[in-house]
Amino acid sequence: MSDKHSTLGGTKPAPAKPMPSVDDPFNARFWAGLRQGRLMLQTCMDCHAPRFPASRHCPHCHSESGDWREVDGHGVVESFCTFHKAYWPGFAADVPYSVVQVRMSNGVRFYSNLVGVDTSAIQMGMKVQAVFEPVDGSDVTLLKFKPMAEASP
Ligand SMILES: [Zn+2]
Repeated sequence: MSDKHSTLGGTKPAPAKPMPSVDDPFNARFWAGLRQGRLMLQTCMDCHAPRFPASRHCPHCHSESGDWREVDGHGVVESFCTFHKAYWPGFAADVPYSVVQVRMSNGVRFYSNLVGVDTSAIQMGMKVQAVFEPVDGSDVTLLKFKPMAEASP
């Protein structure tokens, strides 16, 4: 038996990546939405501002009202950086990888990764759309982004 993690002492499992707590009482609906392939955001029922992470009070008008709405998943890369060194063993196989700051069309910002594009092709202002990436062996689905398909002429 051999794989890329084989050692003289036997096989060693790949180092795990840190995982989010998906049953946090405020954000469980966000993570459940991702598992269903839907981007759900808590939205203020008074000023209608979406917010992430979910919270007891709206950061815009301080209202305690909030309900969950599905949003379109479209955004723009506002900033990014590319990691050439793995600061966490679980990411060693991904180097080089990029972390992007995406501003959604509704103003909410996420930090995530772009998939389906070489790190050298990432640019600020790139239009992206949400994709949903299940993590093997867990009940976690991560929010990632991919470049938005160009509209047909
Ligand atoms: Zn509000």
